[in-house]
Amino acid sequence: MRCLECINHAVFDTPAYCKEHFLAYFENKVRETIATYNLIKKGQRIAVAVSGGKDSLTILTLLHKWYENVTAIAIDEGIAGYREHTLKDAQRICQENKIPLCITSYKEFMGFTLDEILKKKKLHPCTVCGAFRRHLLATASKEFDVLATGHNADDEAQAVLMNIIKGNTELFTRLGPVSGNGPTQFTQRVKPLYFCTEKEVMAYAYLNGLVDSFTECPNVHESYRQIIRDELNTYTKTRPQAKQQLLQRFLKAKQSLPHKKISLQQCTTCGEPSSRAQCKVCEYVSLLSTIKKDKI
Ligand code: SF4
Repeated sequence: MRCLECINHAVFDTPAYCKEHFLAYFENKVRETIATYNLIKKGQRIAVAVSGGKDSLTILTLLHKWYENVTAIAIDEGIAGYREHTLKDAQRICQENKIPLCITSYKEFMGFTLDEILKKKKLHPCTVCGAFRRHLLATASKEFDVLATGHNADDEAQAVLMNIIKGNTELFTRLGPVSGNGPTQFTQRVKPLYFCTEKEVMAYAYLNGLVDSFTECPNVHESYRQIIRDELNTYTKTRPQAKQQLLQRFLKAKQSLPHKKISLQQCTTCGEPSSRAQCKVCEYVSLLSTIKKDKI
C-alpha cells in the first residue's frame, strides 16, 4: 500500500500514510483539538497524568515538545506485574527528555497497595482504584493550571455509551475534550487526544519508541468498561467510523443539553470538595483502617 501523500510505502492503513506523513497527520490532529477547544493557553503550568502506557507517554512527549513548563504526575496503585513495568517506561521517557516526574502511591497515601486492599476486602478493584487515583491526581495537580490526560477517542466513545446505558445524565454532560461544566475547585482536566483513535495513538507511540510492549492491568477484565470496549470494537469492525461519529454526535447533542452544575460541599473528614457529606475516598480510608497492617 502506498502513502496518500508520496510514493513511500504506508506504515498505517486508515488513512494510508508513510511514517513521515502519519506523524505529521497525527500531530496536526492533536494541535487542532487543542486550538479548537482552547485546551491549553500560552504560559500555563501543565501537569500530565502519566501511567506509562502509550496514551499518556504520547501526550506527555507532544506537550513537552510544544510547551514550556510541563510536569508528569504518576500514580503507583501497587498492582504487581503491571504498574512497575509501565512506571519504568514513564521514568525512562522523563529522564531522556528531562521532564520532571512526580510519583505518588496508594501505599504512601494510606499504607496499602491496591493488591493488599483487594486481598483483605471484597471491593470492586476499579471502583476503589478510580476513587483513589482521582483524589491523588487532584491533590498532586493543585499547583498547576491544567491537567492533561491521555484519553483517546476509543476511551471517550466508551464513556459516552457507559453513561447512556447507566442513565447517568449528570456525568454525561461533563464529558468532552474539556472535562466538567465550567470552573471548579479542581485543576481543569483536558484531553488533547480526544479525536485520535486507540490505533492511531498506538502507532504514534511505537513509531516514536515510546513503548515497546503492551501490558494491561490484570483487573481490567472485571471492569464494566471492558465489556463496552469489546462490544464497540466488534461493532466497529463493519462500521470503521462508528467511534468518531458517536463522539461528533455526542458533542453536538451536548450543546443542547441543560448543563446542571454540581454543587460541591466540603467533606466533613478531609475538607476537600465533595458531592456528598463524606467523600468516597474518606469512606474507603475509614473502611480500610480496620485492616491490620501486620496481617497483610
Ligand atoms: Fe485500576 Fe481498574 Fe484501571 Fe486496573 S483496570 S488500573 S484496577 S481502574
